Amino acid sequence: MAVRRQRLCRRHAGEGGYMNVILHKDKCISCGLCASIAPDLFTIETGVVTLKKNPKTWNKNDWKSAKEAAAACPNGVIEIKET
Ligand code: SF4
Repeated sequence: MAVRRQRLCRRHAGEGGYMNVILHKDKCISCGLCASIAPDLFTIETGVVTLKKNPKTWNKNDWKSAKEAAAACPNGVIEIKET
């Protein structure tokens, strides 16, 4: 079975780095925790986690919330990368 791995964004983080958000949707169990932590960023309306707005528009607080959601996700679905 193919792994549904989606690289969604790469943007400048404002302090010398780049931020990526990758959703490993095949592992999402639709628990809703990410959407409760970061309701402006994540939704599970389609049955699995999806983004509510383009990460290119995310500000510093959005990335902070996304990191909190990623840390809380029980299955490691949300991957935030700083490069
Ligand atoms: S917290 Fe993780 S498993 Fe739960 S809905 Fe969000 S992405 Fe899916």
